[in-house]
Parts: sequence; structure tokens; C-alpha cells
Amino acid sequence: MTIESSTTPQYGFGTKAIHAGAPIDPTTGAVIEAISLSTTYAQSEPAKPIGVYEYSRSANPNRDNFEAAVAALESAKHAIALGSGSAVTALIIQSLPINSHIISGGDVYGGTHRYFTKVANTHGVSATFVGDLVTDLASTLRDNTRLVWLETPSNPTLSVTDISRVADILSAHEAKTGNKVLLVVDNTFLSPYISNPLVHGADVVIHSVTKYINGHSDVVMGILATNSDELHDQFRFLQNAIGSIPSPFDSWLAHRGLKTLHLRVRQASNSAQKIAEFLSKQDSVIKVNYPGLKSHLNHGVVLNQHRDGLGGGMISFRIQGGAKAAAVFTSSTKLFTLAESLGGIESLLEVPAVMTHGGIPKESREAVGVYDDLIRLSVGIEDAEDLIADIKQALEKATA
Ligand SMILES: *Cc1c(COP(=O)(O)O)cnc(C)c1O
Repeated sequence: MTIESSTTPQYGFGTKAIHAGAPIDPTTGAVIEAISLSTTYAQSEPAKPIGVYEYSRSANPNRDNFEAAVAALESAKHAIALGSGSAVTALIIQSLPINSHIISGGDVYGGTHRYFTKVANTHGVSATFVGDLVTDLASTLRDNTRLVWLETPSNPTLSVTDISRVADILSAHEAKTGNKVLLVVDNTFLSPYISNPLVHGADVVIHSVTKYINGHSDVVMGILATNSDELHDQFRFLQNAIGSIPSPFDSWLAHRGLKTLHLRVRQASNSAQKIAEFLSKQDSVIKVNYPGLKSHLNHGVVLNQHRDGLGGGMISFRIQGGAKAAAVFTSSTKLFTLAESLGGIESLLEVPAVMTHGGIPKESREAVGVYDDLIRLSVGIEDAEDLIADIKQALEKATA
């Protein structure tokens, strides 16, 4: 669907979420696209396909439509959907020449850290992790640095990085040395509704679709988006060569989820704001990490980089009483389910030190604020009052 062409009006986010990549079926009139399961497509003579499709690894109508929709929402020219968020990371690193160096923000997703340290190195790509890209990037750049990886807000401490300042450092580096360094931003925690990293100077934005974009905890998928024709062609070539694709059914489900992204994320973010404010007032809470709080270290960046200054649906906080209190709290909630993952309609919670970040040594963990008493919340779209009451009763049990 061409609602993004230069002759049409600039529609709002919700309108694009509903209509981008959602054509009416020209033969049946179906308002919702059919799931196209065929793996191969007929040709009229050798090498002359009847339509635009040939073989479903290379392209499929459901995947194409979903990609068009995400591209519209990320203000991107192109998007490519893959089998998981981790497959996106692998594909991007695979595109780098041997002996490349990459620089990554410190507290990135555990699987991303694992790929950089345990897989990329076996393909001749080395990684350096820095605590704060804005202050430490310039001194860490090398002649063979090809890529910078940034996650904002970070996981699970929700520190926020100014994407445009990181992009400026890389532009200055390119002007001085002639070396182009790609800036990749993992936007999973905010979704395209709250932030569009390409607008702030990123070259590539990526998502674990598994989280907010699909939003219903029933699909594992990933996507990348870019405005560069050259990068897009390179990534598309690699995807076809490597074969990491989502199924037509998953593409269809993720597209259905995407259509309500703005409603879900707005609700989750508004509730998270109320919960973060509630937690900040409790004596049993040591510290609350939430980008929407005025007390957040980079709240100024949040106001500039996030739609309406929204803080998103993720919160982390430290509870009085150490690991034991964290364990009691997380097994006492009735609406928040104790589970890994995030970004779904249902509220989840976890203890990063022993769950998602359990593989990181204690000193490295604590250096970035991941203490044994840190609890991470993924706020769903239940009623905020019910979620606050659930937290209140669990806090009372944990600190009794
Ligand atoms: C989950 C996640 C990933 C990995 O995505 P999968 O779909 O689980 O492979 C990458 N980055 C972030 C921030 C995530 O939360």
C-alpha cells in the first residue's frame, strides 16, 4: 500500500498502523489479507513469474505487507523481518568484513552480549563494551571500527542515551578519517510508537517483534529497518542466502498485533507512569528506574527523544530486604506473572540477577546497577488501579 507516497497526506501513527501494508484483496474484496502458504509460484515461461513472487524464502505476501507496515511506522524506506530478534543481530554482524571491530553499549540484551562475545569473535569480529556511549565512544573508536550498537532505554536499569549525540560523534569521526561507522539502535523497549531512532540519526533500527510489536506473547520474530538502499540490498541478499525468515502465519499474526500498537503502548506507558510514581513513594522501595520520572538522570533526553515524553511500559526497582524480599514479592503478585520476556498485553515481572541476567558475573552486574534486589516489571494493559493494588499487597508480604 502506498500511503507513504509524496502525494498523499502525512497520516498519524494510528492511521498508518491500520492501513500501511494492508491492501484490500483485489479479487475477493477481503478487508483482511489471506494467509499465503504457497512455497512456490507459477511461471508463464522459464524465469518469468506470473506475479512478483517466485519462492517463499525470498519473499512472501504476508511478510511483505508486515514489513511495509513496520517501515511506515519507523519512518523507514525499507524493513526486513526475520525469524527472531536474535537472527537480526546475527545477520547485521554477518554483514561486516572480517577483522571488524564493533562498539556496544554496556547493558545490552543478554542474547546480544552473548552473540558479540561468543559467536562474532569466531567470525573475526571483536567487540568492546562501554558504559556510556556519549562520553566513552570517541576514545574507543579504532580504524577498523565498523559498527556501534546502542540499546535505549537499557535493560534492566532503563538508562537512556541521546541517539543524536552518538550519531554526531560518528559523523565527526567520518569527516576526520573517512571511515563510515554504522549506528544500529535496538528499539525493542520503546517500540516505533514512542521513538523512531532513524529520525535521530541511526542508520539501522531493530526490534525483537516478539515484544511490543506483536504484543500478544505468541510469536517470536525480529525486524530491521533502514533508509539506506545499499544496506537494505545487502541485508536482503544475506537473508535469502542464510534463510532466516518468519513463517507466513507468524507474519500475519505480527501484522495483526501491530495494528493496535499505539493503543497498547499508550495504555502500558500511562499505567507504568502511575506505578513508577506509586513505587517512588514507598518506604520499602530503595530506588525506581523509569524514564518517565522527572527524577530520571536523562529525563531531558526522554522529553526530546520519546513521543510526548512517554516513559514506556518497563520499570525496574530495588526492594528493601535483598534477594529474599525480591523472591517473596515476585511470587506474591496475582496479576503480574513471574516470567521472562516483556511487551505483551499481560503484565510480567522478573528478577534479572537470577533470570535474564543470571549469566553475567556479580561484579559486572552490580557495576551497572543490577543488584540481587532489583525487580523488573513489564506493565501490561490491565487496569492501572488493579495493577497498583497487586503491587501494594505483594510489597506488604515481601517486607512484612
Ligand atoms: C528479546 C530481545 C531481543 C532478542 O529477540 P528474540 O526475538 O528473543 O530473539 C533483542 N533485544 C532486546 C532488547 C530484547 O528484549
